[in-house]
Amino acid sequence: MAQTTETSAPSATHANWRTPSVTSRLPRVGTTIFTTMSALAAEHHAVNLGQGFPDFDCDPRLVDLVSDAMRRGLNQYPPMIGVPALREAVAQKLQRLYTHEVNPQTEITITAGATQAIITAILALVDAGDEVIVLDPCYDCYDPSIVLAGGTAVHVPLKPGTFRPDFARIAAALSPRTRALIINSPHNPSATTWSAQDMQSLTELLRPTDVVMISDEVYEHMVFDGQRHESAARYPELAARSVIVSSFGKTYHVTGWKVGFVAAPAALTTEFRKVHQFNVFTVNTPVQHALAVYMQDAQPYLDLPSFYQRKRDLFRAGLAQTRFRLLPSEGSYFQCVDYSAISDATEADFCRWLTTDIVVAAIPLSAFYERPFEQKLARFCFAKKDETLELALLRLAAL
Ligand code: PMP
Ligand code: GLN
Repeated sequence: MAQTTETSAPSATHANWRTPSVTSRLPRVGTTIFTTMSALAAEHHAVNLGQGFPDFDCDPRLVDLVSDAMRRGLNQYPPMIGVPALREAVAQKLQRLYTHEVNPQTEITITAGATQAIITAILALVDAGDEVIVLDPCYDCYDPSIVLAGGTAVHVPLKPGTFRPDFARIAAALSPRTRALIINSPHNPSATTWSAQDMQSLTELLRPTDVVMISDEVYEHMVFDGQRHESAARYPELAARSVIVSSFGKTYHVTGWKVGFVAAPAALTTEFRKVHQFNVFTVNTPVQHALAVYMQDAQPYLDLPSFYQRKRDLFRAGLAQTRFRLLPSEGSYFQCVDYSAISDATEADFCRWLTTDIVVAAIPLSAFYERPFEQKLARFCFAKKDETLELALLRLAAL
């Protein structure tokens, strides 16, 4: 260590205080578009259909179960990997819905939401110099997590217009340095879902490789029109190379509780947990106990598709009366619209104007792309009370 000789004691004035300069590890990262648009919406008292979160309460029974757990004294550290009853409940769900047999002791970990699960998986599995394929438009946490791991995000576009996976382009992006591929169905922001054929194509594409798949399935219970969710868990060959990520926040209308889970084969889980135990260690104890009890009843998640499909249909019926052009919404709680009949503005400008002047907040699709890409598309979130959606529709109809 360098030695310095002090000649005089430093004087204790503000002039001597100095914050060391730092080189940003994430120079391209600013405040997320969701935070930015929610702040703008609050400032203008806009109906916030931007950031994805429900404006209605969760089942009061779930709140009671958390309070009960707190009153029963379940307030200290739980096991690092998650409360056993919750891991078992998750394993039972994966078996029941996707016929996927997992060992809750070695293959399920409870996380502080999907965001922590994703960065943890990437830090655990991606080495400096590795490449990770992400499909644009993609959720904003993928790229910075890869950068923090020292990896390189290789952005491959979904097919413009339809947002379908382009397997030829994914194949072309695979290289000996590819460590992982991140997929997300139902998809944020496009609200498309992957088909069984897509999952089959992916299985075949990855077969000769050693690529790990991170499957972001936070909207697993929001798939509409009688379709089934094509979880990686349904495909044993894919599941053998997958880290499956989900979020109780979406499923139970509690995005602020920040609890999720990861299902991954034991070898991947072992590495995942090495990082997990040092970047979060454990996850909120009473909430885990409450979720474990609540999950004994499958009905709340089985009812979710029809619950959100009704909201989607209400919102789409209203939007059909406006000058927006509707894109399909097959899953998630998002609806994308084309506003080209209304404005020539860029997506960011249009969404700002919509928030400040029409007083309805939306998210520009361009925020989900690595490179500037303008399609005149905006994303609305319909996880809102009917009266919220109706008020927004009233304002949008004036355009
Ligand atoms: N992945 C996707 C696709 C998301 O939309 C979100 C949040 N909305 C997350 C991950 C993060 O989920 P969580 O709030 O559980 O961290
Ligand atoms: N995932 C949410 C969305 O897409 C936002 C969560 C966040 O603000 N980071 O709107």
